[in-house]
Amino acid sequence: MARVALVTGGMGGLGEAIGIKLLALGYKVVTTYSPTNTKYQAWLDQMKEAGYQFSAYPCDVSDYDSAQTCVAAIEKDIGPVDVLVNNAGITRDMTFKKMDKVNWDAVMRTNLDSVFNMTKPVTDGMVERGWGRIINISSVNGQKGAFGQTNYSAAKAGVHGFTKALALEVARKGVTVNTISPGYIGTKMVTEIPQEVLDTKIIPQIPMGRLGKPDEVAGLVAYLASDEAAFVTGANIAINGGQHMS
Ligand code: NDP
Repeated sequence: MARVALVTGGMGGLGEAIGIKLLALGYKVVTTYSPTNTKYQAWLDQMKEAGYQFSAYPCDVSDYDSAQTCVAAIEKDIGPVDVLVNNAGITRDMTFKKMDKVNWDAVMRTNLDSVFNMTKPVTDGMVERGWGRIINISSVNGQKGAFGQTNYSAAKAGVHGFTKALALEVARKGVTVNTISPGYIGTKMVTEIPQEVLDTKIIPQIPMGRLGKPDEVAGLVAYLASDEAAFVTGANIAINGGQHMS
């Protein structure tokens, strides 16, 4: 039977590429969209036209109750979640001098609390069934820090702390937990940066001299989700064109 993969924030950007890759590999792919997202039906129609059959559920990943309701509905309608990709995330960049509590909390809730909120309702089932994959999308800026991103760097670093601790707890149960830390990938989050900043400040930091492609990150997710990756757990895998090596 096809495994069920849940990709949070899968409408566009990295999440969409991950969903398409997992569909091509035969997974049933479920994605989530923010309850405020009014374009989800148009996106689903567009994907269907292109031959991609996604299921989609509203979920505010930053809200514990919303996450529990969402996962319960998915498990009832589609089946137990075998692969969880915690992908949804936001940035609210500003220097620490300007950083206020609202923008600190928003980033911590959406990038870090969300990982707890979504992982909590799927882990017991994975452990009982003796198979599961939890893949957390962090960032190179969680590994090295970034100017104007105290909130984002802290949240993304926290994601990997979570990965390592949970990986220990479920290691003997057939469940792996891993972090992927992408560098700059050509999604809206990055292409909205002014071209001049990309050309003069960002691309020169990347030894490969280009942005990453969403499909390259999706390929890594597909590997971690596979049976072949059964011995990889607690890892933080960089995919950044050589920008940061640790
Ligand atoms: P996008 O902005 O394109 O996508 C982010 C997704 O998160 C959207 O689908 C959005 O859904 C969803 N989302 C945001 N807030 C919530 C919420 N409260 N509840 C549910 N869903 C929410 O970003 P990317 O695709 O570029 O990024 C994906 C992940 O990769 C993020 O975690 C990001 O931090 C990380 N990353 C990205 C890098 C890059 O270079 N692009 C580099 C390193 C890490 P909706 O549209 O419905 O609101």
